[in-house]
Amino acid sequence: MNELRELYQEMILDHGKRPRNFRAQENTPSADGHNPLCGDRITVYVRTAGNRIEDVSFQGSGCAISTASASIMTEALRGKTVDDAQALFRRFHALVTAEGDDTEIGKLVVFKGVRAFPMRVKCATLAWHTLRAALDHAEAPVTTE
Ligand code: ZN
Repeated sequence: MNELRELYQEMILDHGKRPRNFRAQENTPSADGHNPLCGDRITVYVRTAGNRIEDVSFQGSGCAISTASASIMTEALRGKTVDDAQALFRRFHALVTAEGDDTEIGKLVVFKGVRAFPMRVKCATLAWHTLRAALDHAEAPVTTE
């Protein structure tokens, strides 16, 4: 299974096992996300000051792809602006759905292999959809269906 080996690269496995920024934040805007196809559940916390993202963290349970994606997302967003985050999400979404290439995507490129597995695209993008809901102060939980 070369494809699967490609998909579950070392970095994804590492972040899936030892997620970074895996913690709750009190009194911080957050949103809940759920991917019923896989059972992934996540809460994303994002603290902003004006347009700048000061801290992003998450908690939840899910498959290695969803956990690794959330973990790598929190690292990628450190010090970015909200506009940067929205732009990065668009590029990431294009990458994993094969509509875009891997320019200006940084280490998120490790998820490029996900495009071969449509069900896994929802795992990989759940954290990002949930982040956007948190930034928008959305009340309703995010679901990938
Ligand atoms: Zn999943």
